[in-house]
Amino acid sequence: MARDKEAKQRQVKGKKLVCPICGYDQFQTRRTLMNTPGLTFFGLDWANRSADNFICDNCGHVLWFARK
Ligand SMILES: [Zn+2]
Repeated sequence: MARDKEAKQRQVKGKKLVCPICGYDQFQTRRTLMNTPGLTFFGLDWANRSADNFICDNCGHVLWFARK
């Protein structure tokens, strides 16, 4: 699992990421594998893929981006 504990500005699809809760713009990242049996229970197509998490360094809100 890739991990980047450094909090800094991040971009997704060329857009600067801003926390929807507190408006902060510095995030840590981590990659999460989503192939847990619990997720397939919900019938999610992307359940067996990995996702990028961006964690707001101010309030801790986690943004999820499922990889295609
Ligand atoms: Zn925040």
